[in-house]
Amino acid sequence: MRVGVLALQGDFEAHLRVLEAEGVPAIDVRRTAGLRGLDGLVLPGAESTTLLNLMRDEPWFDELRRFHAGGGAFLATCAGAILVSRKVRSPEQPSLGLLDATIERNGYGRQVDSFEAEVEVPAVGGAVRAAFIRAPRFRALGKRVEVLGRVAGEPVLVREGRVLAMTFHPELAGDGRLHRLFLEQAGESRRERERDEDERRAVAS
Ligand code: GLN
Repeated sequence: MRVGVLALQGDFEAHLRVLEAEGVPAIDVRRTAGLRGLDGLVLPGAESTTLLNLMRDEPWFDELRRFHAGGGAFLATCAGAILVSRKVRSPEQPSLGLLDATIERNGYGRQVDSFEAEVEVPAVGGAVRAAFIRAPRFRALGKRVEVLGRVAGEPVLVREGRVLAMTFHPELAGDGRLHRLFLEQAGESRRERERDEDERRAVAS
């Protein structure tokens, strides 16, 4: 299995360390060509408007959508979750639309700029320590979006197909369970793709 971390801006190094600790060394992806051959990609926290500016140099939106359509898995955290959502508020800005969600940037406002919380995540067998840093907030979710974790009743960790998205930073607490969940999905994507390959080959021969 091969996975990468988008390394244009933000705390991509912490994600590389967590993945390494999980036994799957990832590559840092700085150009769209780096997506080739990957099964999964981490979209780290950052400043989403700066990220969008940095993405102007290359057709990142097209390539990331193609990566998703081709079976690639995503772990999208914070600014990454903003990037994958269908609709972004405060202010509105372009996004990939790979997750049927409306997300509000800096949704906790000034009253709590940053905080830590325990997120109960039955899918990984317990509570995950989460850092919310100028975090966004999911304001609406489509029917196909599963909620995997909440804080004070609000969804903060969701999944739609191969897209696992969260409004917090899981990489800072040294807990790799959400990364493992992503790696399982990436592994599954890889097996599916290999099966398709085999079928194509069988048909062609
Ligand atoms: N506040 C940032 C934004 O709106 C996201 C913060 C983060 O990724 N930690 O882009």
